[in-house]
Amino acid sequence: MFYARNTRERELLADARVSVIGCGSFGSALADMLVRAGLGRLTLIDPEDFAIENVGRHVLTGADVGRAKTEALADHLRKINPGLHVEARREKFRTAEGLLLCCADSRRCESMVNAVSLVHGLPAVFVGAYGAARAGEVQICIPGKTPCRECFAGFRDDAEPVADGPERYTDPDFDETRTPARAGLWGSILAIAGVAFHAVLGVLGVRETIDTERPLWIVNLDYEGFRPYAVTYAKVKKGCPVCDESKIAELTVEW
Ligand SMILES: [Zn+2]
Repeated sequence: MFYARNTRERELLADARVSVIGCGSFGSALADMLVRAGLGRLTLIDPEDFAIENVGRHVLTGADVGRAKTEALADHLRKINPGLHVEARREKFRTAEGLLLCCADSRRCESMVNAVSLVHGLPAVFVGAYGAARAGEVQICIPGKTPCRECFAGFRDDAEPVADGPERYTDPDFDETRTPARAGLWGSILAIAGVAFHAVLGVLGVRETIDTERPLWIVNLDYEGFRPYAVTYAKVKKGCPVCDESKIAELTVEW
């Protein structure tokens, strides 16, 4: 009875489904936390293999280097709960079911997750870090109740492309909105993921309340200029060109 210490959460989460988009640091940490809490159904989506440079901040180990992140992570999670319903999709995100937990380091992918969330009416939680993971952000998006991801993060599309590398000129699928890998420590990732975990529990109905008026959580560990070790809850103004009612039809055609 490995859920003896969290029977209530297990009861509420056993039939819930979460799709984890991006199975790197945040995706693996959150999948691990959710399965240990009792989540019963999980979809893992990521096109990449697990590499040696991932080991320093991931739940997987050197034994998994070279394997698809999704397959290796699914095996890891089955060791926690052999009865887990887990689907591993080694592919770029197109669509998914359940709560969309976006841990991808790409603005383009975030926008696609946001569109699927709006079109299919699925809740989404976006998790990311900046400043070498000394600060993080968590945004809860519930269609019809909160602003969407673009309402907050759309301004970043006006910034310079972030990714660089020789593939830019040779790979037709090169994602220039992808954030290049940056320094950051596993402990920092876990601290931010721990906060995001509670946002996910809130959306799944495990917490008694969730404040949809303040769906943006800024997590500061020791980022300069912010109050250290604090979570700030922020409002986001609704009504960007994407979640404007008249735009939903266009997104539907796209998907
Ligand atoms: Zn919006």
